[in-house]
Amino acid sequence: MAARISDEKISKLRQSVDIVDIISEYVQLKKQGRNYFGLCPFHSENTPSFSVAPEKQIFHCFGCGTGGNVFNFLMDVEGISFQEAASIVADKGGIPFEIEQSNEIKDDRYPAEHQRMVDAHELLGKLYHHLLLNTKEGSDALKYLHSRGFSTEGIRKFKIGYSLPEWDMAVKYLSKRGFTEEELESAGLIIKRENDSGFFDRFRNRIMFPLFDEKGRIIAFSARAIEQSDSPKYLNTPETIIFNKSSLLYNYHGARSEIRRQGYAVLFEGFADVISADEADVKNGVAVMGTSLTNQHVQQLRRLTDTIIICFDSDQAGIEASNRAGSLLVDQGLEVKASMLPQGMDPDDYIRKHGAEKFRADVIGNALTWTAFKLHYYRFGKNLQNEGEKLKYIEEVMNELSKLNNPIERDLYIRQIADEFSLSLEVLENQQKQLVQAEEQKQRKHRKQTDDFYQVHRQKKQGVPMAHLTAERLLLARMLRDEETAYRIMAMLENHSFFFDEHQAIITYLFGYYAEGNQPDPLLFLDYLPDKKLRAIVTEIEMMVIDSEESEQELKDCVNYVLKHAKMLMIKEKQSEQREAERSNNVEKALKIAQEIIYLRNSLSSM
Ligand SMILES: [Zn+2]
Repeated sequence: MAARISDEKISKLRQSVDIVDIISEYVQLKKQGRNYFGLCPFHSENTPSFSVAPEKQIFHCFGCGTGGNVFNFLMDVEGISFQEAASIVADKGGIPFEIEQSNEIKDDRYPAEHQRMVDAHELLGKLYHHLLLNTKEGSDALKYLHSRGFSTEGIRKFKIGYSLPEWDMAVKYLSKRGFTEEELESAGLIIKRENDSGFFDRFRNRIMFPLFDEKGRIIAFSARAIEQSDSPKYLNTPETIIFNKSSLLYNYHGARSEIRRQGYAVLFEGFADVISADEADVKNGVAVMGTSLTNQHVQQLRRLTDTIIICFDSDQAGIEASNRAGSLLVDQGLEVKASMLPQGMDPDDYIRKHGAEKFRADVIGNALTWTAFKLHYYRFGKNLQNEGEKLKYIEEVMNELSKLNNPIERDLYIRQIADEFSLSLEVLENQQKQLVQAEEQKQRKHRKQTDDFYQVHRQKKQGVPMAHLTAERLLLARMLRDEETAYRIMAMLENHSFFFDEHQAIITYLFGYYAEGNQPDPLLFLDYLPDKKLRAIVTEIEMMVIDSEESEQELKDCVNYVLKHAKMLMIKEKQSEQREAERSNNVEKALKIAQEIIYLRNSLSSM
């Protein structure tokens, strides 16, 4: 990363500002000893565990583990690229800096053909926006929006626009700016006439809602009809190479930092809800674009938070959709709540009728837990006076409760059911016990099957003493400070890997960093690391207080510790290989392995 702008320039930029000043614009910091503390902007907390070390010019959160230098902070908090963060720092530090339009920032832009499409959208979006806000032609559309409760500020924020009732406004406007008709057609902006004589605009006389990608660039439109007779009511850009509904969350870019700050996202059914909610000061809302929630959406959300509040319409379709979306999120390990609107209402109806404050407090603030929602959901469309439907309901609820991990919560709901339907608590409890056992068995099987990296990793971590982690980190700290020491440590470790995969990954990058001729500099190295998790670990290491005087003995102790463990692991591996060889009657191989084990044991005892 750092190679794109010269290291020298990066260092100069970094030195032109104090990380404390920059972070103070986002977090209220209080000085305590050498460092500053405040509430973490990346996770929700009541006691400050977010710290900034002015001497080291790094930040680190002891709560969620996020950390890095000033560029990393801006990238994370604003959701921007390294180049954009660098340009903010340059601005604050009063250093001339231009983002170069060369291949240096390619990773941030689309391939050329894609980029042309985005450029066309951006240009057209600006024109639509201007037409809505500043022209006589747009005044009816603007009046309509205002009457629907859109503020001018909201219109600006979401870059809402208006397309003229002309057949070739976009065709002409963009052709003049060097776009070919073929390009514009594949971008979904214009349509080829059937009789093959030219093209016409897809969007005419409509209110234009731009759809943004993760970086906030316009990649499509959703256009609302103004005339009653215009059908459909909403006309969307078809899927193109830059617009893919199953991976687009409306307002992901705009809501990102607010989601992080508040610790949860609100998932709406449509983008209009997101805008209404934003006007009501719920700024962490996102929406899917006329499709069900997909795994791709879930992954995007998971990058920001592990808690989602679903706020869909309260009609049958909305409740079914809530159930589908919520189940997918729960399956992927997220915590889900569901806001319940009064029957038949959507968020916009509610806000207009009851106001923003009530929406925040009673709808978002009072969201049901997932279990409470399911109890409500199973009730939907059933006549509980009917014996058969009642039994079906109880069965569904009991199954749902067996999935709960919290026995107290489970007990609470069982009592509720027993009360409501005058059933024997004992019978219900017995039934529940069996269901829970079955569920546990199912989950055990499932756990075995899922080869989730983090799970494997966590299991691997268990049973490894903390001292081991510390030993590896102390070694890493030395390696970060001095290149020669880094190579020496690897030699002392006889090229055995570090036990923790992340540590090994950091070392791999570190040697790459040194090989490119970079000087030891933890701050610069942070820019070099592409992975957020690795950056967090390097920051944590930097935050550890290390005696400035290198103690050779400490270094040897740490190496011994890591080496011993690596050898012990190897013996274990060899032993199972040996058993395998014996089982398959491969005597020769078994003997060879036995010798290797003896050699390893000897080298261990001589340590
Ligand atoms: Zn945090």
